[in-house]
This record gives sequence, C-alpha cells and structure tokens, in this order.
Amino acid sequence: MMKRILLSLAHMSGKEEEFIREAFDSNWVVPLGPNVDGFERDLEAWIGKKAGREVHVVALSSGTAAIHLALVMLGVGPGDEVICQSFTFAASANPVCYQGATPVFVDSEPDTWNIDPQLLETAIEDRLRKTGKLPKAIIPVHLYGTPARMNEVMDVANRYGIPVVEDAAEAIGSEYGGRYCGTFGQYGALSFNGNKMITTSGGGALICPDEASAARVKFYATQAREAFPYYQHEKIGYNYRLSNISAGIGRGQMFVLDEHIARRRAIHGLYVEKLKNTPGITVMQPRSTVDLCPNYWLSTILVEPEQAGFTYQDLSARLAEAGIESRPLWKPMHLQPVFRNAPAYVNGVSESRFMQGICLPSGPLVTDDDVDKIVEIIKK
Ligand SMILES: *Cc1c(COP(=O)(O)O)cnc(C)c1O
Repeated sequence: MMKRILLSLAHMSGKEEEFIREAFDSNWVVPLGPNVDGFERDLEAWIGKKAGREVHVVALSSGTAAIHLALVMLGVGPGDEVICQSFTFAASANPVCYQGATPVFVDSEPDTWNIDPQLLETAIEDRLRKTGKLPKAIIPVHLYGTPARMNEVMDVANRYGIPVVEDAAEAIGSEYGGRYCGTFGQYGALSFNGNKMITTSGGGALICPDEASAARVKFYATQAREAFPYYQHEKIGYNYRLSNISAGIGRGQMFVLDEHIARRRAIHGLYVEKLKNTPGITVMQPRSTVDLCPNYWLSTILVEPEQAGFTYQDLSARLAEAGIESRPLWKPMHLQPVFRNAPAYVNGVSESRFMQGICLPSGPLVTDDDVDKIVEIIKK
C-alpha cells in the first residue's frame, strides 16, 4: 500500500498512558483532578520561561472555549463590537457571536499574514466615528504559528485602551522578540486539538494575567457556581473544563513539546532550502525586523500560476495522487457567507494568499525523505 503523508498527525511521548492509568487507578475519571492541576502547572512553568510577566493558565475543553471565556471575562455582550483578524479559522470569530456581539474583520499585512496594525487603527477610528463606541476587544491571530506584529498591535490597543485576546491556538512556542505568543495580550488562547502542536485529543487553555482572573475563568468554566453550601448561581456559566483524562494526555505531551517544535521548524527549513529558486513557488517565511521565531506549526507555500505553470489546485491534486495530504489556506472570514453582514476592513492581502496558498505536511512524523518526495513532485 502507498504510504500516506498527512498534514499534521499527533505523536505521543509514551508517558500519556501512565498519567491516564494513574487517573483510572485513583478513580479520577472525572472533569478536574490531579492531572488538570498538573497540566496547568506544567504549562505555566513552560510558558513562564519566556513570558516577560506572570502567567496563570486554566485548562479548558477547547481553544474555542478559551477565546469565549476571555470575551466573557472582558464583559463583551450584545451591542458590542470585537475586532478580529479576518485571515483565520472560524473559531477565532465564532465566540464573538456567542456573546451576541458583532465581529469586525481586519485584513492582514503581507509579511506575517497577520492583522495589519495600520488597518487596525483605521478600523478603530472608523468604528468610533460610525457607532460612537470603541470596539470591546481585539483578537489578533498568530496564523500557522507566525507571530503577529505584537509591538505595533499592542501599541494601537494600548493607545485606545482596548484589551487584546491573542488567538495563539496555532502558536504555542512561537516567539516574538524573545517572548512567547499568548503572553502579550490580556488573555492568550491555546488549542490542544488533535492536529495542533500538542494534543489532549481535544482541549485548550487560557493564559491569564493574574491569579484572580484565572480563578474567575475557572468559575465561569464550571457553571458559575457561587461559594454556597447549596447550588447558588448569579451568573451564566459554562461546562468548559478539561477532563482529568484529557489532561493526562496533555501532561504526557509536555515531554515532547520542545521536540515537536524543533521538528516542525526543521521541516520548514527543509522546504525553504529545497524549494528555493523554484519558479512560482514561495515558502512562507516572515522577514520582519523584530526577532521572530515561528513554531512553523504548518509550513505553507504560495503558487503563482503564471510563473509556476500550474495552480495550487493542480498541485494539490498531484500531491493527493501520491498519497500526500495538503490543504488550502484558511478562507478569510470577510469572505465567509455566515459573516457577510459583518463590517470588514480589507486590503486584498488575505484574499490573494487564500487564492494561491496551500499547507504542506509538517507534523512530527514527517521524515526528511517525505519532504524530498513532496519537493520532487512540486518541482516536476
Ligand atoms: C484550532 C484553532 C482554534 C480553536 O481551537 P479548538 O481547540 O479546535 O477549539 C482557534 N483558532 C485558531 C486559529 C485555530 O487554528
């Protein structure tokens, strides 16, 4: 049978089962428990190495839940607007709608493919003019693990006093100026879905600025139960905590996190090296002057049909024939039917990337030989 080369497969350290077995042996087969606490402490220690500030981490059932609770914490509600990067997965924007608020989409700048800080400011000014109100939050995304221009984004956000929720679902371990993505904004969301850098089978986490906000996030994530001997509720809550079993997988994954990041960066390096000077093919690599260190969760390439002699769809089909999975880039939110009525500030960058780009196999199980095979097909 032909070996299939997939985009982003999970890879276990082998320790996951020990933590799960411990949970079974101690009968902690429930939401919450020692693995949840342990996973949170592990993440805090790991992220804390390059956070430049205090970090408190709450383990949650998904990255989407993490973004949602950040918006709950910031008091986002009906009638509010939240600025969101347009070039992203729908999970960045959906929670804005869960809160009855309106997403306002802002396009990307060409280098990092992430939110354009100047267009962000234009959007804020225009919303202020049109609605008389400032947006309630800003959601920049570190797409495919490439850090957004956080100095400029934070500068704009701070000037207007608007809190930032970083969608770092794809960017655990990505560094901007020596600091981890997810630690710049007031909140940072991580995802441990099956195809992300590390997995808990499904799960996420919210990076919080202090102990009190982390405690409040846990409160909302467990049905907002007040401290009474009986069940007393004064807020609408959610069932968003990570289970103790899933957290056991997460603890095991912490043993391979550094390795996975190193491997994905190495795979990206191979694509860059082997595809340089290939007409019409550009491997995405930011050139920003700030010290950027993407985790290269997924390596992506752009295909310029005139120069290459084929489109990205042609290439995708050829790769598929050889058992190689590829995937179009995220379709920008301002082009999605569901968001057709949302205000959008557009400059053409995300749309042009979407029309030319694909993601290539990048997971820890992709070998050097696999990359050679992929490159050979592209060159042919
Ligand atoms: C995966 C992802 C999410 C959502 O994470 P889940 O854990 O799948 O809910 C959010 N934003 C981006 C950019 C993602 O890639």
